[in-house]
Amino acid sequence: MQEKLEAFLTNFPVYEYSFLDVDQITFTQRVRTICREECDRYGSTWACPPGVGSVAACEEKSRQYKHALFFSTISSCKDVVGFEAILETKAEHEAITQKIYEFCRQGGRDCLMLSSESCNLCESCTYPDAPCRLPEKMHPCIESYGIVVSALTELSHMDYCLDEEHMLWFSLLFF
Ligand code: SF4
Repeated sequence: MQEKLEAFLTNFPVYEYSFLDVDQITFTQRVRTICREECDRYGSTWACPPGVGSVAACEEKSRQYKHALFFSTISSCKDVVGFEAILETKAEHEAITQKIYEFCRQGGRDCLMLSSESCNLCESCTYPDAPCRLPEKMHPCIESYGIVVSALTELSHMDYCLDEEHMLWFSLLFF
């Protein structure tokens, strides 16, 4: 599967990528404190805590898989101001993430995709009153699973940030 994914990635403007063993990934409760105290999106969608479930449940779900593909794309954020506006620049990243997810799912293969930041697929999220409208397109935030993205970039020898005009978005596919 790794070779197939690697070949498929060449169809997209992926900036950097790395294959990891799930055993190399650390899940930590302390990320939840940052989500709760510093993120405007906490408790606002099914892609964020606490909607994604406990860190222990997220870890258990992730550890059902052996391998992971971690990848990044770049978007321009020149003259973009505010968290919501920055979130809108990740549309291309989300489209690429979805295509890679669908490719991995071909033939009924089981996999789990996590992506960057929050979910903004719907104008108004159903959270917490009704189930997610688009469970096949909604990919929880990597950090919501208790995973530190900067630790993954370090592990993968990838860039974590570039400059003020360019934003890096990350996704993590468990397969
Ligand atoms: S897909 Fe829609 S309902 Fe589901 S988490 Fe995203 S915004 Fe909410």
